[in-house]
Amino acid sequence: MKRKRGERERPSRRVQTCKDVIDLLTEYMEGGLAPAVGRRLETHLGNCSACEGFLQTLRATRAAIRSLQRDDIPEDCHTKLRAFLDRELKSGLL
Ligand SMILES: [Zn+2]
Repeated sequence: MKRKRGERERPSRRVQTCKDVIDLLTEYMEGGLAPAVGRRLETHLGNCSACEGFLQTLRATRAAIRSLQRDDIPEDCHTKLRAFLDRELKSGLL
C-alpha cells in the first residue's frame, strides 16, 4: 500500500474516492457534515461495498464503545480508546 506524500488537506469536501469517504465517515455519523456532502457520501456508500462494510464496522465499534462506557472502564481509558480507534480507523485503511 502506497501513500502519497505531500498531499495537502483541502478545505473543500470532495467525496470522490474511498479515502475521501473514510475520512468523512466519523463526521457523517456524528451529523457534522453539510447535507450536500452527506448525500454524496451516501451515494458512494450505496455503490461501494467496501465503504459500506467499513461504515458497518465503524458503527458496531462505536456501539460497543458506548455500551462499555458505563462502569466497565475508567473514563480516562475510554477517552484514550476512542482516540486510538478514531486514529486507526482513519489512517489504517486504503
Ligand atoms: Zn468506497
